[in-house]
Amino acid sequence: MNIILLGPPGAGKGTQARILVKAFDMVQLSTGDMLREAKNSGTQMGERVAGVMARGDLVTDDIVIGLIREKLTESSGSRFIFDGFPRTLAQADALGSLLHDVGATLNAVIEMRVDDDALVRRITARSTCTNCGEVYNDDTKPQPYNGKCINCGGTEFTRRADDNADSLRQRLMEYYKKTSPIIGYYFAKGLLNPVNGLGEIEVVHSEIIHVLDQ
Ligand code: AMP
Repeated sequence: MNIILLGPPGAGKGTQARILVKAFDMVQLSTGDMLREAKNSGTQMGERVAGVMARGDLVTDDIVIGLIREKLTESSGSRFIFDGFPRTLAQADALGSLLHDVGATLNAVIEMRVDDDALVRRITARSTCTNCGEVYNDDTKPQPYNGKCINCGGTEFTRRADDNADSLRQRLMEYYKKTSPIIGYYFAKGLLNPVNGLGEIEVVHSEIIHVLDQ
């Protein structure tokens, strides 16, 4: 079972991916996390993409396809959740070939639908545990009162540098210009399954499970 979680920034892709990883022993492949890791560890590629990410632009297809290719070969035989990839038609085509090369197929694309106004609030209210990446939200899932992450007990929480109004506007623009065409692409392939991303975390999870059960 290999699936894509598709949706604009703040749709809840990362949150849902983490729940699926725990529940079904799947492997989350988040190109955003991989790029942030490269940036934080100061690799040459990380330095090249830092400015692009801060502005909210998309990193080049070659770079992200290369990252995914590496992970697919490293963990071949796993069940993958693609989170934040593909984001362009070229990436969607490349994913098809990469999966074919490792003898795997794509089973479902979950489109997480959310209202644009809700995204802005979600993004600006978002923080994560620095240690394990557990996602918190000031409104719906605040950081614990005892200051310890519910998942790992970590005590440091960070807000992403690109979770600000300017960068978000550009990330949304990139989504509508370059990523939204892949909704039609996967619809035509018979793989598209929309879910309402605005519900409670557990409700959205149940909707996703319902899709995967079919
Ligand atoms: P995310 O964590 O998925 O919101 O991604 C954060 C940033 O990383 C994006 O705004 C892009 O700059 C970059 N990025 C992540 N995934 C991709 C991708 N598949 N293609 C191009 N850029 C990406």
